[in-house]
Amino acid sequence: VCMLKITGWRFAVYIALPLVLATFFAINLTYDLMRRIELGGNFVEQKRNEILIQDILQQQEAELVQLVSENAQWTDAVENTTGEPNRKWFEQTWGHTLGAASYDTVAVLDSVTGKLLLGRSHGKDIAAEVDLFGGKSLADFEPLLDTNNRRRGVASGFMQTMDGPSIVALAPIFLPNQQNSKNGRVLYFARTLNSAWLDIRIKQLFLKNMAFTVEDVKSNAHLQLKGLDGQNSFSLVWKNFGLGELLTSSMSTKIGFVLSFLVAVLMGVGFVCWKLVQQLANDQIKSQHKAFHDHLTGLPNRAALSDAMQILHDDGQPYAIAFADLDGFKEVNDGYGHEYGDKLIYMIANGITKLTSEAALCSRLGGDEFVVLFKGEQAGAQARAFSDQFIAMLKHPFDMEGRLASVGASVGIAETSGELDVSEMLRRSDIAMYKAKAAGKNRYCVFDDAFDDERNENLSIASELKSILSSRNLDVVFQPIVHAQSGEINGVEALARWPSTSPRWVTPDKFIIIAENSGLIDNLGELILEKACVHAAKWPDLRLAVNISTVQLNNPKFVEKALGILERYGVVPNRVEFEITETSLIHDSERAKVVFKTLQQRGIKVTLDDFGTGFSSIGYLRTFKFDRIKIDKSIVSKVLSSTAELAVVQGTLLVARGLSAEVTAEGVESAEQGSVLRLAGCTELQGFHYYKPMLPAQVTTILQKAKVARTPRTVLSA
Ligand code: C2E
Ligand code: CA
Ligand code: CA
Repeated sequence: VCMLKITGWRFAVYIALPLVLATFFAINLTYDLMRRIELGGNFVEQKRNEILIQDILQQQEAELVQLVSENAQWTDAVENTTGEPNRKWFEQTWGHTLGAASYDTVAVLDSVTGKLLLGRSHGKDIAAEVDLFGGKSLADFEPLLDTNNRRRGVASGFMQTMDGPSIVALAPIFLPNQQNSKNGRVLYFARTLNSAWLDIRIKQLFLKNMAFTVEDVKSNAHLQLKGLDGQNSFSLVWKNFGLGELLTSSMSTKIGFVLSFLVAVLMGVGFVCWKLVQQLANDQIKSQHKAFHDHLTGLPNRAALSDAMQILHDDGQPYAIAFADLDGFKEVNDGYGHEYGDKLIYMIANGITKLTSEAALCSRLGGDEFVVLFKGEQAGAQARAFSDQFIAMLKHPFDMEGRLASVGASVGIAETSGELDVSEMLRRSDIAMYKAKAAGKNRYCVFDDAFDDERNENLSIASELKSILSSRNLDVVFQPIVHAQSGEINGVEALARWPSTSPRWVTPDKFIIIAENSGLIDNLGELILEKACVHAAKWPDLRLAVNISTVQLNNPKFVEKALGILERYGVVPNRVEFEITETSLIHDSERAKVVFKTLQQRGIKVTLDDFGTGFSSIGYLRTFKFDRIKIDKSIVSKVLSSTAELAVVQGTLLVARGLSAEVTAEGVESAEQGSVLRLAGCTELQGFHYYKPMLPAQVTTILQKAKVARTPRTVLSA
């Protein structure tokens, strides 16, 4: 999820944002372009309309100027307006104002008083008080009437008259060629710019809403018209056709299409990118999940566990781990096949998950190893409670499609208040787990500092043992085995002894296990067999029993080496018995069967040692065809007090008889025990009550004494 968030953020910055910006700029640019085209089009149209309209108005004005100048500078006009104006002439000459094309109002004024002398408008006489100059009087325009100016006194302009917006032109009546011919009269022409005029003159421009107005005009579609005095008088307004809008609207569909297409493409690109990025992130999440999870159970793996522990360690938080290793899983795997082994692991993983609702993490390290992590002050207690529940859960066999599988578990717990690092915690839980196994399995063990002392001691014993073996210093003692009926010595069992020259004393139980765990057992076994043979060669009538570790059976050269030693020291194989403990045999029973058979074919007998301590079954005795069974001292010590133990002895003897195997009882410490066992049917007895393990020289002495005792007195004296 975190990964997706980061990717989403990166996608937004590196892909989505540029795409959105590109889209924005494309739209913005297009909009800007359209706007410019529209403004440009409108500007061009406005200018064109202004020029055309101006042209028409100027033409109209020019016509009126032409008219007034021709009529004012005319001999007849001078004559007929001087003094009292000739009304009749006036009416006949200029008075046809109705329907005239270029003017509709004409007047003759007194240039000094500004008084109207004669006037007609739209076919009617006009009164003296009508407004010809837009509220002003002729006197206001007097300076314009200077006949010496370029226009010879003619003035023109646009004005509001009594008829509304009009073009007005006036000129003093005079004869240009004669000095002082001005007769004090002014000729006035006007043309009303009404809608009829607009219709005729400007219609051709196809403009709508054309009108004259004195108001302030906001839109730019207008033309300011100037009065006689050059001041603004009124405006002509119209509505432009809208060339800009026309241009853009014709383009906008296409541009809209192209833009939508562009946006769609960009969005498509964005979408594809997002999908790709998501895919990448998902792949990454998946591969990360793979890297941190076990493929079979889906539980977090060793890497995930280490990470979780490291985080707690970095925070200095208290935590505990329960390291569970299954007991008997190998048998299920070998017996039913890996497919069922995997199924069982899967079922157990599910079971663990159900038990660990309080756990911080539940992981599988691989194989049949699981580690559950608990954090907080209660972590240690939770780890213990979990271990109890887990072991109890395994007491019920698992049903795998009709096949029942039974496994147990040994759990090692390590706790820390935060100071121990990850590897130390794993090491401690591992040691505690082995301790639980050594203590009999199906239990949990909490790591204790003493374990480390023990481990260090074991390491030092192993290193000392190594040098003892290389200098062949390991001692051997012999414990005689006696005939149950006669009490005579039938044989001896060779037992390894830590050399007395060593500053410390280590019991065989201890150093044998250390030798097995440190790879020294093959050497130890060979050395003991050699030393035993050296002495046994001196006691040709005795059987020689030698203890063999199952680890030695795994060595493919074991049988050859053993036979070689016997031959070298002149000990016949059928004098020799190899004692093997039953508990260690279970694991590689097939291989053991083959080795036993070879040994027996070569004359060496095979004894089942420590019978009654572990996994005893009659079927098991049948599979291996032992030559002898040795009832363990733990059974022997109880035969007098417990009927159950006596029953074991009797049962064993019954079976042994059926298998034609002999039975020895070991660890006999009293005459009572000896007689019970003899009566039960044991053929041989061994124990402190008869002989303790002793030095070879002592064995020789005892043998000699016994020989003397048995020799008839008569012969001796002879
Ligand atoms: P084990 O094979 O069962 O040997 C008999 C053990 O019982 C010996 O202990 C012996 O001293 C002890 N014992 C004999 N009679 C009595 C008795 O009346 N009462 C009591 N309480 N104990 C009695 P030891 O010598 O300490 O050997 C212990 C174990 O070490 C042996 O048990 C054997 O499993 C192993 N071991 C000894 N030597 C060798 C060896 O050379 N090779 C191998 N592989 N294992 C050896
Ligand atoms: Ca033994
Ligand atoms: Ca034994």
